[in-house]
Amino acid sequence: MSKFIVLEGTDGSGKSTQLDLLGKRLEALGKKYTRLTFPRYDEPSSSLLKMYLNGEFSATPDGVNPYAASTFFMVDRYASFKTGWQKAYEAGEIIISDRYTTSNAIHQASKLEGKERESFLDWLFDFEYGLIGLPSPDMVLFLDMPADVTFRLLNKRQGETGDIHEKDHAYLERCRANALEICDKYRWKKIKCVGPRGLKSPEEISREIFEAVGEVLGIE
Ligand code: ADP
Repeated sequence: MSKFIVLEGTDGSGKSTQLDLLGKRLEALGKKYTRLTFPRYDEPSSSLLKMYLNGEFSATPDGVNPYAASTFFMVDRYASFKTGWQKAYEAGEIIISDRYTTSNAIHQASKLEGKERESFLDWLFDFEYGLIGLPSPDMVLFLDMPADVTFRLLNKRQGETGDIHEKDHAYLERCRANALEICDKYRWKKIKCVGPRGLKSPEEISREIFEAVGEVLGIE
């Protein structure tokens, strides 16, 4: 039985912070796991997605067809699976991932509306999990961080000039709204990062994530 968990969220929502904390919790329990991060900017399979994010096809995300953009990211996932984690996945090991196919659902479906968006999502999941044969996650968690907070956190992250997604705040806000709808439709687990007392601490968010993944990972 596979145990494949994906952490999603818009840029700067705390995904890598939370995967670090989840990894530490698993290590403390003596659990072996494989950690994935997408996209893999240092691998040759990311050439096209880097051209896209660098603005070589268009200065704004909306200038690039969402089906085309999705394939740029898909080939990187395929290469990663075939050369990296296929064996671990098939052996039923714990796999935790920062972004996955689900990121295309957030960032590319937001370029479309209504029926066109629905058809895109059907195509995306059927293409990757069905036709291409990439594993479908056992659980997807979405870090629900309001757009203004992520802009603040991204600005604080040092040395970042931002890619075409990160620079386009209106687009990122649309992505978040689209993601919240997708959470309901595909039963992704929403993790609220802001509570009545403001932004929760990374540790508090981590506790909620750990509670949510307990059953899937068999560590209740
Ligand atoms: P992502 O991987 O989603 O892009 P990061 O984990 O890199 O996001 O987080 C973006 C920035 O926000 C980092 O500088 C991180 O330290 C900070 N950060 C993340 N979560 C929180 C939080 N709950 N409270 C305060 N700062 C946070």
